Amino acid sequence: MNILIMGGPGAGKGTMSEKIIKKYGILHISTGDIFRSEMNAKTELGLLAKSYIDKGMLVPDDVTNAMVKSYLMNSHHASGYLLDGYPRTLAQAVALNEVIKGTRMEIDKVIALDLPFDVLADRVTGRRICKKCQSIYHITNTPPKKEGICDVCGEPLVQRKDDTIESLSVRVQEYIKNTAPVLDYYREKGYLVTINANQSIDDVWADVQKALED
Ligand code: AMP
Repeated sequence: MNILIMGGPGAGKGTMSEKIIKKYGILHISTGDIFRSEMNAKTELGLLAKSYIDKGMLVPDDVTNAMVKSYLMNSHHASGYLLDGYPRTLAQAVALNEVIKGTRMEIDKVIALDLPFDVLADRVTGRRICKKCQSIYHITNTPPKKEGICDVCGEPLVQRKDDTIESLSVRVQEYIKNTAPVLDYYREKGYLVTINANQSIDDVWADVQKALED
């Protein structure tokens, strides 16, 4: 099964992605996670990405497309893959189509997590992540057992630099401007399933599984 998952900042892409890969055993390719790990390792790609990401802007298409193409071509995904946070622009969707068309990497479903913008701010500014294992928490909705410490690996939790109110408003505008045409593109192809992300995690997860197994 080859799946794309889309959604604005704080829509729950990361949380649903963790559940999807665990249940269906497919390869997880998250462009945000890849950029963050490159940034931590201070690679050339990481430094370039950081100059965009910290401001809430999208990393340029040519850089992002080349990176995803290389992951798809060089990694093992016999049971399928989940692309998380990509494509985010129409140019990326077209580039992805060039890579996968006519292969067994063709997309089966596109999950779009839909969340009213007034709910986003609280979700995003309260989010904390583990820099080591990437587990995601929220200071009030899904807090760790011990404040500021990851339940999974015991490392300190951090706030992403782009999870501030200033970056968020740029990211929301970028999302509306760039990603709406991508949703239309997949809607026309008949792949798109829109899910109400303004529900409990369990209810969103139930809807996601239903969409994937339909
Ligand atoms: P995410 O973790 O998916 O919210 O991504 C964090 C940030 O990484 C985004 O705000 C962008 O700056 C960058 N990013 C992730 N995926 C993409 C993409 N497909 N195209 C361009 N930039 C991206």
